[in-house]
Amino acid sequence: MKIPFSYLSKQFDDRTTDRILAQIKQMVRRADFTLGKEVGVFEKKIARLCGTRYAVGVMSGTDALFLSLKALGIGLGDEVITTVNTFFATAGAIVIAGATPVFVDVGTDYLMDVSKIERAITKRTKAIIPVHWTGNVCDMDAIRRIAKQRNLFIVEDACQAIDASYRGKKTGSFGDAGAFSMHPLKNLNVWGDGGMITTNSRALYAKLLLMRNHGLVDRNTSALYAYNARLSTLQAVVALDVLRTLPDITKRRIALARFYDKELGRIPHITLPPRSPEKKQVFHLYIVQAKKRDGLLAWLVKHGVDAKIHYPLPLHLQPASRQLGLPYKRGDFRVAEAQATSIISLPLHQHMTMREAKHIVDSVKAFYAQ
Ligand SMILES: *Cc1c(COP(=O)(O)O)cnc(C)c1O
Repeated sequence: MKIPFSYLSKQFDDRTTDRILAQIKQMVRRADFTLGKEVGVFEKKIARLCGTRYAVGVMSGTDALFLSLKALGIGLGDEVITTVNTFFATAGAIVIAGATPVFVDVGTDYLMDVSKIERAITKRTKAIIPVHWTGNVCDMDAIRRIAKQRNLFIVEDACQAIDASYRGKKTGSFGDAGAFSMHPLKNLNVWGDGGMITTNSRALYAKLLLMRNHGLVDRNTSALYAYNARLSTLQAVVALDVLRTLPDITKRRIALARFYDKELGRIPHITLPPRSPEKKQVFHLYIVQAKKRDGLLAWLVKHGVDAKIHYPLPLHLQPASRQLGLPYKRGDFRVAEAQATSIISLPLHQHMTMREAKHIVDSVKAFYAQ
């Protein structure tokens, strides 16, 4: 049995592809390429899904983070606090905005350890980017309390966490802005790149609309020199089609995660992250900690299971952090560093069958039974 990490050939089968292509054809015949009708429709639906007043379609999740920071006035000389185990784009967006990333360690749930935030705040700190890593939700009550006390902005990196919630409140609705990605491997995905920013601030919304489109207020007038980060209408067509299935995608991912939790929780060599009934996780990734991780990974790959590591090297130890002259060294973030040697991501997606999930669990058991 071969169980790949990617499911795109299953998701976009003949029927689905033909349906989407027919909608794209209509859009092409209307020549509605630039900020076309579907972009606006999709924005309204995302705002409704996230429970925010506004949403702005942009070109990628990275642009969503970058433009949110820029629109909040963050740039040269400013510091932005984020977590040490995230995708490169979180730190990349901070750097491209002209600011400096300041890292904090993670907890047993792989999310930003909120007890470490205060110590990372300096006179230059302007914002916190909590990352809803794996599709789990950060402790937003605590983060909001700190941000309020210290007068900091919050930009949620919700790129992995569309439709996730904490006490019924959706990701993207906690901060000043929320950033989402529609990269092909994200839960809500398109045929290339796409991103979304959610916000409740009318002023920020107005600024973001300008910043993604050359500052244009009309064809001949620019209110502000800015950028081109428009969500393509073509991708909005795809996104609208996939959005209709998002509740099923989320449900299926949660069901598979429950099965994994139940089965893997019985294996003494495996440590599950804590689960909270107050959090609706959407399981973009399914990560556990495993004894003899490297042996297990090789064993699973040998048995057709496309397991991966997200990620083997935390951001503070990346060559990019050294290149930037960040002052970090090994030992600075002990939890993330220890997890980097024990975490493993098992394939989990909406097109996986129970038989495949069972094969993966059996393969893990067989490894430790040797
Ligand atoms: C995917 C991802 C991004 C970047 O999104 P792109 O659309 O690929 O630019 C940022 N942060 C996190 C946590 C991600 O998973």
